Amino acid sequence: MLEAANGLEIGRDLTRANTLALPSVAERFWRARSEQDVMHGLRLANEHDWPLTVLGGGSNLLLPPHIAGLTLCPDLDGLSFRAAAGDRVDVEVGAGVVWHTLVEACVERELWGLENLALIPGLAGAAPIQNIGAYGVELGDVLEWVELIDRRDGRRRRLGRDECGLGYRDSVFKRELANRVVITRLGLGLSWRPRPRLDYGALDQRVPPSPSARDVFEAVCAIRREKLPDPVALPNAGSFFKNPVVSRQRADMLAAMHPDMPRYPQPNGDVKLAAAWLIEQCGLKSCRDGAFGVHDRQALVLVHFGGGTLDELLAFADRVAGAVRARFDIALEREPRQAGEPASG
Ligand SMILES: Cc1cc2nc3c(=O)[nH]c(=O)nc-3n(C[C@H](O)[C@H](O)[C@H](O)COP(=O)(O)OP(=O)(O)OC[C@H]3O[C@@H](n4cnc5c(N)ncnc54)[C@H](O)[C@@H]3O)c2cc1C
Repeated sequence: MLEAANGLEIGRDLTRANTLALPSVAERFWRARSEQDVMHGLRLANEHDWPLTVLGGGSNLLLPPHIAGLTLCPDLDGLSFRAAAGDRVDVEVGAGVVWHTLVEACVERELWGLENLALIPGLAGAAPIQNIGAYGVELGDVLEWVELIDRRDGRRRRLGRDECGLGYRDSVFKRELANRVVITRLGLGLSWRPRPRLDYGALDQRVPPSPSARDVFEAVCAIRREKLPDPVALPNAGSFFKNPVVSRQRADMLAAMHPDMPRYPQPNGDVKLAAAWLIEQCGLKSCRDGAFGVHDRQALVLVHFGGGTLDELLAFADRVAGAVRARFDIALEREPRQAGEPASG
């Protein structure tokens, strides 16, 4: 790796900077530790007309062998708490803070709101991109605002929650603002008042009556450690596919043929299905093809045994999705984005 005079790193190896351990080299790499750094990186990209890739913790991003243009890593720190009206506490966090460190800091202060989102890998700045969610809670339940720098004019803007277009693993940052903005800070609204959310999975059976935020946090960590592979030991990007959402009529038809099929009714009447169950029914749990496989405890997670490339991973994922389509006529949608991929939707 070379370091150019202006602090740009040339030819930075990112193989260890993505949890799938896909071999990848960034043509140019810029670590931004302040807003000014972000603005400087964006100015460089604009001046030279370089494509832009924003890289956080690399836990939800598919990296090609060569990333052209500028890869910008927003590494802004900062975490502050401010008591507001009633039982509310306003939290501000920099994009470079490790998400789990933020959750732990809130639980330590006995604040409620983030405990179900423990142990999600990655950095705070990436959390709004796919509106991270787990155990019945999504970022959108507590997000107040997002601060960002827009590549188009180099200016700082603040978007309120409603402007972020949050949905199931979706936001405006995957669509209209994809590859265009760098998130620098988030504002969250948490609470001193106990508000345990235990209605998902077996969480209610894993905590004592009237649990503290720490009880819930520890139960979530324990369940996740039992179910999910640690990317350090077995590289992966968490769920590779979104859970498909179908109309109630379609879900009823499928349930008539498969009475044990899990179904999660949505507020708008649609029904969310479990992609992991669909994959399992195709007999693909634990299957392996070359460098990639379906995890043996969680069929939604594709794992990398080493020596594979992005193209091989995408071909393997296509085979998994193809098997589900052939058996259930349901199209699985990929969850992690590919670096440089055009906006969805
Ligand atoms: C084992 C495992 C378990 C997981 N469990 C969950 C889970 O329970 N729920 C869940 O929702 N996700 C889960 N994930 C996915 C992942 O952890 C989250 O999506 C996380 O928010 C990604 O953070 P990151 O910093 O690694 O982002 P990256 O992977 O680096 O980037 C993800 C996307 O966000 C963009 N991006 C990153 N930072 C910024 C920024 N500051 N400004 C603008 N764009 C940015 C990138 O360009 C990319 O498109 C899991 C992943 C793994 C490996």
